[in-house]
Amino acid sequence: MWCDVKLLDLILPMRCVVCAAPGEQLCPTCREELPRLRPPLCARCGKPTEWPVERCVECAGHRLAFASARAAVAYDDRVRRLIRGWKERGLRTLAAAAADAVAGALPPPEVAALTFVPADRARGLERGYQPAERLARELAERWSLPVEPLLARTRPVARQRGLSLAERRRNVAGAFAPARKSPPRVCLVDDVYTSGSTANAAASALRKGGGRCVEVVTFARVVR
Ligand SMILES: [Zn+2]
Ligand SMILES: [Zn+2]
Repeated sequence: MWCDVKLLDLILPMRCVVCAAPGEQLCPTCREELPRLRPPLCARCGKPTEWPVERCVECAGHRLAFASARAAVAYDDRVRRLIRGWKERGLRTLAAAAADAVAGALPPPEVAALTFVPADRARGLERGYQPAERLARELAERWSLPVEPLLARTRPVARQRGLSLAERRRNVAGAFAPARKSPPRVCLVDDVYTSGSTANAAASALRKGGGRCVEVVTFARVVR
């Protein structure tokens, strides 16, 4: 699988995964025009809001295991294509571009280590690629922080797509467990924040493992 992907990259002419312009995997225009998220945001979940707020309609009333969630870009069609190329074909340049966008948008978190949402084993092997881990490693270089694999999956999880918020929460509840002791301050990295259910379940496992303050950082965030 890995070899095939590399070989394809050599044979096919390089095109932008977003607009298909020949040249780079992400052309300078598309790189420039990523839909960056800007304040004001909900202090807790990072949803763009009219004014700065502590909690917003999306996160108020929910018990959240993470202290804050932040993302670099809004999840739209262009970002979806970029992430698909990065996930399905393991294009390293795209993970690096995503990390550049994150590091350009967010200050380095005040944590002892970065960790990542572990890939679902079946799907991870299928792709031979772990997007959250790759992003965490790219960010670790930019922020001069260590990466520690702190989480394990306890069971396979059905796809979240098409599920309601309550179903998503149930679907991922208890899906993660601490793989080793977490430092008190830790940053959890994932590719996309959709409903926050995955981030919440993973943060909850980090807290079971000793984490006291979990900051979530993702490349993209679904904005409703
Ligand atoms: Zn492009
Ligand atoms: Zn919120």
